[in-house]
Amino acid sequence: MRSKLYINGEWVDGTGTMAVYDPSDGSVIAEVATAGDAQCEAAISAADAAFPTWAKTSPRVRSEILRKAFEIMVAEADELATLVSRENGKVLSDAKGEILYAAEFFRWFAEEAVRVPGDFRKSPSGDKRILVTHQPIGVSMLITPWNFPAAMATRKIGPALAAGCTVILKPASETPLTALAIADILHRAGTPKGVVNVILPVPVGATISKILHDPRVKNLSFTGSTEVGRVLLREASDRVIRCSMELGGNAPFVVFDDADITAAVQGLMIAKMRNGGSACTAANRVYVQRSIATAFTAEFTQAMAALVMGPGLKAGVNLGSSVSIKERDKIAALVDAAIAQGAKVTTGGKIPAGAGAFYPPTVLTCESDNAILQQEVFGPVAPVVIFDTDAEGIALANNTDYGLISYVYSGDLKRALQAAEGIESGMVAINRGVISDPAAPFGGMKQSGLGREGGFDGIHEFLETKYIGVEI
Ligand code: NAP
Repeated sequence: MRSKLYINGEWVDGTGTMAVYDPSDGSVIAEVATAGDAQCEAAISAADAAFPTWAKTSPRVRSEILRKAFEIMVAEADELATLVSRENGKVLSDAKGEILYAAEFFRWFAEEAVRVPGDFRKSPSGDKRILVTHQPIGVSMLITPWNFPAAMATRKIGPALAAGCTVILKPASETPLTALAIADILHRAGTPKGVVNVILPVPVGATISKILHDPRVKNLSFTGSTEVGRVLLREASDRVIRCSMELGGNAPFVVFDDADITAAVQGLMIAKMRNGGSACTAANRVYVQRSIATAFTAEFTQAMAALVMGPGLKAGVNLGSSVSIKERDKIAALVDAAIAQGAKVTTGGKIPAGAGAFYPPTVLTCESDNAILQQEVFGPVAPVVIFDTDAEGIALANNTDYGLISYVYSGDLKRALQAAEGIESGMVAINRGVISDPAAPFGGMKQSGLGREGGFDGIHEFLETKYIGVEI
């Protein structure tokens, strides 16, 4: 298990250490090195020094390194999944799913590295030729959250390296071990020194601010809460750094009266409970049309109540723990406030006795003005609200500052597509509980973010577009 900082191709000590905990029992898994100013400076220098050569390295060579990293990750998926489950608390099957999904970003961007398009055409007036090309932006600061410690890292490192950028990755304090394991894979895959660096700065805010004010750093790619995203956008504005922001979500799950109820419940179980509900894509607000609401809520409650909660690595468990007691308590506070405002609990709703950051699968029924519907609940909690007309369902879905993803269930594709077009979110899943795919553009509208990761768009977050006008 790697626990030192990774700077300039070497594993180095920092100024101190930070404990990483197993949230299912509170035990310490490892002490990880923390970075002070000297290590952050070393990481910037290394990434800056490596950039000119990496940017000029042929796309094919960059592609093959990413492809090799993909192969190593898949070969070592079981070991990596165990590490993810231990530091994050999620169940092993979710962790394994995440590792394979994470590896796919290396494969996809290995393929994209050699396909960056350009353009050459005649100007409309015929006075010149318009040549459009793309160049790597430069040293990129990557900041990732704890909920998908592997996939959020590879979704940034993959396109950055494919584009020819060098990177400094700062993982979440709760889950740095997975990021260090990924750096180790990239090292073994042949990534030249300085191209990838991993730091764990303390204190976070002040140190990242210093990094973003360093003229050698040209790009910021952040995944995390909208609250921290706003702070970072302000920090980045001083030097007008390019930013891509993958922020919070508060996904609606809209079920129309012609939907197949059992299929919709199965989809909701995935959309809500994948990753134990700690996903930006998690269905946080369930809107069900009146005539099917009673049957739907009963079937959903039964499915939630049947889940077995326990340590993520234990066989037979399908809901692990939250990442920390602090995160678990945030979930509990939101549920308690919802109940105080009139929500009714159909299952769950209480912190269980005993150690570990556990919160049970919880279904609430509530009115559309309950405050819980305006908050991102990062856990296994689903409030269900009844609506009457299609227009009301869509309006309720849009009644949020977030706009990452939405889910629509209907037996009529035309009706579902009309809803999808009316919903303000960057992604819409129709009759499916999951649509994340490295080959598709992932990202949000409104306060859920700026830019897209994955798909054909992802690599462009790390490329500058350059227009050259040619006299002919
Ligand atoms: P968070 O509190 O915003 O933290 C995210 C990262 O930012 C962590 O590495 C954190 O470091 C760092 N950070 C915190 N304060 C900072 C500051 N002042 N300056 C620089 N960096 C700072 O989010 P989280 O609790 O880890 O993750 C959950 C959130 O991520 C949810 O809102 C979820 O929706 C969102 N998310 C979005 C997507 C997406 O694709 N849209 C995907 C996954 C998660 P420390 O850990 O050291 O505090």
